[in-house]
Amino acid sequence: MTSVTVNLGERSYDIAIGEDLLGRAGEFLTPHLKASRVAIVTDENVHALHGATLAAALSKLETHMIVRPAGEDQKSFAGLEAVLESLFRAGFDRNDTIVAFGGGVIGDLTGFAASVYKRGCQFIQIPTTLLSQVDSSVGGKTAINNQFGKNLIGAFYQPKLVLADTTVLKTLPERELKAGYAEVVKYGLLGDSDFFGWLDANGADVLALKPEAIAHAVATSCKTKARIVAEDELEHGSRALLNLGHTFGHALEAEAGYQGDLLHGEAVSIGMEMAFAFSAQLGLCRQKDVTLVSNHLEKTGMPQIKDAASLLRPEVLLGHMSQD
Ligand code: NAD
Ligand code: MG
Repeated sequence: MTSVTVNLGERSYDIAIGEDLLGRAGEFLTPHLKASRVAIVTDENVHALHGATLAAALSKLETHMIVRPAGEDQKSFAGLEAVLESLFRAGFDRNDTIVAFGGGVIGDLTGFAASVYKRGCQFIQIPTTLLSQVDSSVGGKTAINNQFGKNLIGAFYQPKLVLADTTVLKTLPERELKAGYAEVVKYGLLGDSDFFGWLDANGADVLALKPEAIAHAVATSCKTKARIVAEDELEHGSRALLNLGHTFGHALEAEAGYQGDLLHGEAVSIGMEMAFAFSAQLGLCRQKDVTLVSNHLEKTGMPQIKDAASLLRPEVLLGHMSQD
């Protein structure tokens, strides 16, 4: 097991990364609990695949499962209300702990619920997608969406612990795995050329979920995110680095329409290639680096500019970008 610390003074916490950690959740969670009651918020897919393992691991505690439908729609006032109501009905109080057990949707929704339930109660993340293990569970951003856009209502609210079991990724659909891998590649491009070189040599093993490769990729990604978040928790400056490729990516996502035709990570993969090509055109990066990025995406079977031809209408994309 690898442990990465997010250094935020009294709000510091550890990310535990490794194989088969879910079955040991009791051992990891117990030291952080103020009371023995734990609410687990999850979605139907994760519950069906991994709910029993987590429930068994927490059998010594008093657990309350809140199972929501899967999908981005849950990051809404209706989704938030459903979670909060369930907590009220079960009589949870501020010393009890709320666990987000799922991908980024469950993490963002549950984190925001934890931040507002009785003005804030204990919160722990057990991320189950690659994207949530390397990105959304780390750094404390929580949010829901509304008609004006994504993630516009939320809070910075740090968990007490992140438990990232790489074994649960085995049940993840391949498209979702690759969407998460785009964010891993991003960390390699944020000034860590050693990591990029390692990915270029070992990307296939990461995507094949070879235990050592996936653990190294998750841990290195978390270390980079933790460092950037520690420097700029509330995104006044350097945290914006984490948006590499995202301005292009968000425009592609908006144009594709958020119905699952283009996942966020798929848009980020294409967006990073666009960002490098654009930088080279402006004379801000070397053509050699554009080629490095493109070749890596090609060889790992990641989405590229050439796969997005139907979305590449400059005026339309610029329109979306001006709203970002
Ligand atoms: P998701 O939570 O929708 O999960 C993707 C799909 O995989 C869902 O259908 C889910 O049920 C399923 N799933 C989850 N774990 C599984 C497993 N182990 N096996 C099989 N299926 C599994 O999507 P995501 O990509 O994890 O997260 C996307 C969300 O994260 C977006 O809402 C985005 O805004 C948010 N996000 C937040 C941050 C942040 O800093 N807070 C950063 C990046 C993204
Ligand atoms: Mg992203």
